[in-house]
Amino acid sequence: MKVPLNKKAALFLVATPIGNLNEVSARTLDVLRSVDVIACEDTRNTAKLLSHFDIHTRTITYHNFNEKDSTKGIIKLLENDESVALVSDAGYPLISDPGYILVNEVIEKGFDIITISGPNAGLNALVASGLPTAHYLFYGFLNAKASQAKKELEELKDFPYTLIFYEAPHRIEKTLKIALEVLGDRKACLARELTKLHEEYHRGTLSKLCQLHDLKGEMVLIIDGCHEKQEVDIDELVKQVMDMAEKGIRAKDAVSEIAEKYDVSKNSLYQAYLDQKNGDR
Ligand code: SAM
Repeated sequence: MKVPLNKKAALFLVATPIGNLNEVSARTLDVLRSVDVIACEDTRNTAKLLSHFDIHTRTITYHNFNEKDSTKGIIKLLENDESVALVSDAGYPLISDPGYILVNEVIEKGFDIITISGPNAGLNALVASGLPTAHYLFYGFLNAKASQAKKELEELKDFPYTLIFYEAPHRIEKTLKIALEVLGDRKACLARELTKLHEEYHRGTLSKLCQLHDLKGEMVLIIDGCHEKQEVDIDELVKQVMDMAEKGIRAKDAVSEIAEKYDVSKNSLYQAYLDQKNGDR
């Protein structure tokens, strides 16, 4: 085991550049040089990164098609006190990329896991999109089938936070149309070729983005969350207050909590509660 960063063998989850190789950190290079083995999504792809930085660490494959078998092999390496770095073709491993099975097995076996920070396409796009960043949902890829993608978007329709999607260039026009149909004409941003020579951001609304054609390269779609106030059913809220009161919570406290949660007037909810309670007598 050559890794100077940790005495025991460990699994290093190493984020790699999403385009611009200069984004690699000194720590990333240290780890890639020092581990015994680098497990790659595609060894040919990682070879370009390694040769650019003159790194000669042994590589093995770890991709979607061999995740279970490779996991066993990596566990054996760790048991032999050999440290392993897991990398994907770009960005963080496990983020729309393989590695989840491995990480769980490594946790189960009690070895250390160390993340080496680096670029991530979704976050790069989010922070420059101009859309709210306080809360967001990273969704990754929608289903490739349009009917399934539509269902997935239906489920996200009322979600109040910014949505982050990855998409392939041959599907983006269709995805934008479906998003417009299901979510309405929300603010959105399409971020293309991040960190590369032709990096660009198309900011506007979904209908405006639908006018773009022949979009090429790698892209992230950021869509604003739902900001329409949800219709609340006052009877349903009163029922929640009653349930809490039955469990011994003071009715006034229950009203405060529910009113705050659903952003309704405390007085109206308390009055509706009293009406229903008195009506039930
Ligand atoms: N693991 C990666 C990460 O942490 O960002 C994501 C890998 S996923 C298989 C590939 C998708 O990420 C692409 O289809 C695209 O949506 C997005 N992506 C990756 N690199 C990008 C870039 N340079 N510019 C825009 N999007 C990118």
